[in-house]
Amino acid sequence: MEEEHNPEASQDRIEIPHTFYSHNTKEPFTHCIECDKYLLEDGVHYGVEKVIRKYPLNNTTDVIFEYAICLDCMLRMQSEFSEESSRKLQEYMMRHMDIKAMKKKLIEGEGKDVDTWLARCAITDELIEDQEEYTIHAHFEGNKMLTTVPPHAFGARALEEMTDLLSAETLGFYDDFMGRHFSGPPEIEEILKGRKPVLF
Ligand SMILES: [Zn+2]
Repeated sequence: MEEEHNPEASQDRIEIPHTFYSHNTKEPFTHCIECDKYLLEDGVHYGVEKVIRKYPLNNTTDVIFEYAICLDCMLRMQSEFSEESSRKLQEYMMRHMDIKAMKKKLIEGEGKDVDTWLARCAITDELIEDQEEYTIHAHFEGNKMLTTVPPHAFGARALEEMTDLLSAETLGFYDDFMGRHFSGPPEIEEILKGRKPVLF
């Protein structure tokens, strides 16, 4: 790709922050959850989502579900969504997310802790530290994180609102995705049923 020779483009790719490393391996994600494609090669685009639960009593957090998915699988899954769900989700995000402002914040904060970019819900602006459940998302190419879609977090209210926009058909599709990939305890699976992944 030509843009790789353009120095202006270099700030669009930064080192993968540890926050987006796999919680399991403590290393960057290496394979797509759907097709098992190797991800850490130049030109391979993918996204990472982590679903995090906070336990206020002892002030600990736990990553209850995490995965990386390649762009091809992401697009294939999107195409299987109902048109209505896709449109509603897109409208919702366009209405509430200020990508330009997020990107500015990201570039100004380069070299700082990624957690400052994930400190507030991208939709509601609520503090993530106040959330019992939240998700974090980012896009990557090979061994770099892309800042063209800045990393972002969604708090519980935004996740609920987004889930409400989805058709029964699309919700079933999510349940199928989780059924194929989630192998944790049933009580966590129950929680995840109410918190649909929204990366795609
Ligand atoms: Zn894939």
